[in-house]
Amino acid sequence: MDLYEHQARELFAEHGILVPRAEVTDSPKQARDIARGLGGRVVVKAQVKTGGRGKAGGVKLAADPAAAELTARQILGMHIKGHTVGKVMLAQPVDIETEFYVSYVLDRAAGRFLAIASAEGGMDIEDVAATRPEAVARVPVDPAEGVTSAKAGEIAEAAGLPPQTVDVIIRLWEGLVREDALLVEVNPLVRTRQGQILALDGKVTLDDNARFRQARWGADDVEHEDSLEAAAAAKGLNYVKLDGEVGIIGNGAGLVMSTLDVVAGCGARPANFLDIGGGASAQVMADGLSVILSDPAVKSVFVNVFGGITACDAVADGIVQALETVRLTKPLVVRLDGNNAARGRAVLDEYAHPLVQQATTMDGAAARAAELATTA
Ligand code: GDP
Ligand code: MN
Repeated sequence: MDLYEHQARELFAEHGILVPRAEVTDSPKQARDIARGLGGRVVVKAQVKTGGRGKAGGVKLAADPAAAELTARQILGMHIKGHTVGKVMLAQPVDIETEFYVSYVLDRAAGRFLAIASAEGGMDIEDVAATRPEAVARVPVDPAEGVTSAKAGEIAEAAGLPPQTVDVIIRLWEGLVREDALLVEVNPLVRTRQGQILALDGKVTLDDNARFRQARWGADDVEHEDSLEAAAAAKGLNYVKLDGEVGIIGNGAGLVMSTLDVVAGCGARPANFLDIGGGASAQVMADGLSVILSDPAVKSVFVNVFGGITACDAVADGIVQALETVRLTKPLVVRLDGNNAARGRAVLDEYAHPLVQQATTMDGAAARAAELATTA
């Protein structure tokens, strides 16, 4: 899960990293009051979970409280890279002398973290890395050793950051560890004309596997990327919205991923990824179907189940019970194979729902679902 800037900022502050004074609101009127409290002049910043807000017009300086209200009104509701701005943060402006870049990111392939740092912060680090790779330092961090003062010094020196930043480099690592983050990024980390080191913008991605012990951050997640994803998550389903037209339900991530490929190979595009896991009970099947059928982009649904521990007849019973509660509005192609496949198919044959078709192979079922989706 990604955090909003204002949450990242809170996390930094808790770990002793200096941040500008700031407050969050969804109301332009309140923005005026906040600006007054912060001394009048403020930076108004869109709170959306994407970078490049500055370039998109989502970060603006306001000279006084009246301007802050006007600017907040402009930025609230703005669309930035597919995200709608629901809140703005008003921050005390900072007198920037230099902008740096500092981040830690999990390097899965190496089984380590990577510190990435640059004395050329502020802009897109990808651009800097592409045009002047020598300006971006990459220092591996062994998670068992962590970032000692020596390691932090090495990172700062490799990137050409002043020794003053070493403390922040250590604290940022401590924050990452304590909050179970996979990524923490400060861009820009600035040195002010007064000589302070401040984190002006932050991006943090928490490890969803650690969500049970980091529950506090989800609380004000007003901007869920997809409301169906939120509904599915509430039902404990692994659902990811994609942009095609074939709804896909399968058991097990591996099977679902190959189902996406096979559907794509048949010339259609998957509308989603929905893994009902090992125990495909009637309830899980009903929940999965109702999520998929409420996506207007879905033209056909492909249920691809390979019975292992879960027997196919139990899955077929689940589908039948699900269809008793969820009204099927789109054609459903079912492929059952593996444990008790014949019995499972018999259950669906007997049920004989006019919108349910069966196929014996994964390829055949995918082709049928693709055809139904593209001709619908
Ligand atoms: P991003 O575009 O989404 O990465 O948003 P940032 O928060 O990084 O803001 C973009 C740029 O706006 C920064 O790199 C700064 O140059 C500038 N900026 C943000 N806050 C302040 C501030 O308090 N004072 C000044 N002078 N510039 C700021
Ligand atoms: Mn930034």
